[in-house]
Amino acid sequence: MFHSLRWRIAIPYVLLIVLCMLGLGIYLSNVIRQNYLDHLEAQLTTAARLIGDAARPALGNNPDIPALDALAKHDARMLGMRVTIIALNGTVVGESDEDRALMDNHLNRPEVAQALAQGLGSKTRLSTTLQIPMLYLAIPVPVDPEASNPNDPVSGIVRIALPLKQVEANIAQLRNILITATLLVTGLAIILATLIASRTTRPVRQLTQAVQQMASGELPVQSVHSSLDEIGQLTQAFNIMSIKLGDQINALETERGKLSAVLQKMTDGVIIADADGHIQLVNPAAEYMFSISQVNSMGRSLAEVTRQHQVVDMWQQSYSTGEWKNASFEVSNKKFYLQGIATPLGPALAGSTLLLFQDITRQRQIETMRRDFISNISHELRTPVAALKALTETLQDGALEDPPAARRFLERMETEVDSLSLIVTELLELMRIESGRVPVDLKPTSPVDIVLPAAERLSLQVERANLILTVDCPDTIPPILADASRIQQVVVNLLHNAIKFTPQGGQITISAAQQPQAVLFSVKDTGMGISPEDLPRIFERFYKVDRSRASSGTGLGLAIALYIVEAHAGKIWAESEVNQGSTFYFTIPLA
Ligand code: ADP
Repeated sequence: MFHSLRWRIAIPYVLLIVLCMLGLGIYLSNVIRQNYLDHLEAQLTTAARLIGDAARPALGNNPDIPALDALAKHDARMLGMRVTIIALNGTVVGESDEDRALMDNHLNRPEVAQALAQGLGSKTRLSTTLQIPMLYLAIPVPVDPEASNPNDPVSGIVRIALPLKQVEANIAQLRNILITATLLVTGLAIILATLIASRTTRPVRQLTQAVQQMASGELPVQSVHSSLDEIGQLTQAFNIMSIKLGDQINALETERGKLSAVLQKMTDGVIIADADGHIQLVNPAAEYMFSISQVNSMGRSLAEVTRQHQVVDMWQQSYSTGEWKNASFEVSNKKFYLQGIATPLGPALAGSTLLLFQDITRQRQIETMRRDFISNISHELRTPVAALKALTETLQDGALEDPPAARRFLERMETEVDSLSLIVTELLELMRIESGRVPVDLKPTSPVDIVLPAAERLSLQVERANLILTVDCPDTIPPILADASRIQQVVVNLLHNAIKFTPQGGQITISAAQQPQAVLFSVKDTGMGISPEDLPRIFERFYKVDRSRASSGTGLGLAIALYIVEAHAGKIWAESEVNQGSTFYFTIPLA
């Protein structure tokens, strides 16, 4: 409670008020008591004088005791006090409350002695006669009623007594009134002080609440009500500050949102590492590349998270030299080939390094394919070209003179030229299809008109290879929407491969079957099959399972088939089991 500003203001005030009122109360009660006593004394003096005046004729050398006693009794009744009239020799000549005759000499009573000496005697003491505390006041009765000097001759003394209890009761009554008033005023003052302190500190409390709200991370929704005083100015300044802060936070959040969206969506991996090589930020692309999760990687070391020494080396070199460094490496079990660049983040984030990772797997593949392509082509071309060269030389060296041999050589030369021309034709074909220069002329075509001519075209080769070819294409199948010559080429390419990769005595089946939306074509053989590792890649350009090139072919046949089928909005795929055979499927939508 005492930590609250409200109470720290209110309590001192309340204490001050209580102390002041207490002091004032004590002081006033004393003043009032004194005033009352003074006033009482003045009253008693006047009454005593009047009694003295009345008693004067009966006093003197021979006092008229019955008259004085009667006077005392009468006046005492009137005044409600005890009245005693004492002769100059100390004898009590008039007494209101007691038996005068039994009373001793009163000259030695302090108030009487004082009255005779000073002209007025006043005393508070225990009554010797009544044994209760009394206030006594005594005055001498001058012989001359006009006398004003205390030394003038005196004929007797009048004493008035009042029980102190009554005086005190009167004073206590006054004091009670005073205490009640003081208490009331104090109570009022306390309530007022509390209210004022509470009102004065209310904006401070509101301000504190708003600041606490701010500290807990949320911006105050409502601005704090402000007055014109100093606290009001503080509140106003706070309101302005909170609005500006809110704007800045919003702007920052927008910026952060943009940055985070960029980081989330970018395909390049981003990692920020601090001066100790601990990860401060990872974007989803980097998580994917290194197979990590953000929660696990935060604050952990690069080496631990990426498990790639090239990344750590690159970061270390960049961090120590303050320059950017790059490196290329394979990650995640050779799933990705990455190009990394480490750049120090400079003054913006001192000690931190930005690590950018670009997935160059595709480029690498293309590069490899291009290299493979050139080496394949050179290899494919070299064999027939070398054969042609050898045959020409043999002819020049005299074989021309031997006509049967020359004819044989010419036949072999023709085969080589055919092989050369096949490579060139397929290459040109692929290039044209790839560049989109071959328009597909889609027309409703019966599947039979595709399958049969294709089978026809390769029947001789089937026969030569000692294979059995079965065609299963019911002519009830509705027409498809296709460019007949192109789809024929697809069937030819698949059939060609089936012949090539099926040993003698094998069987090849071409079939077509209707599906809800399309016709499913398949070319099935009982040949050598394709291993599961090679199966996903056989549709790539120049991809050949047999790297030794023992088989003839360019690795382009299936790539061409894929392009054609996709141009017809169809799908092509293969199923195979090594040494059991392969089945190639493709679909073409119905007309
Ligand atoms: P190629 O002109 O070399 O035959 P393709 O693109 O037609 O090129 O075929 C790619 C590779 O797929 C072939 O080299 C071969 O290894 C494999 N392949 C294709 N068809 C078959 C099949 N029916 N049986 C076994 N392997 C095949």
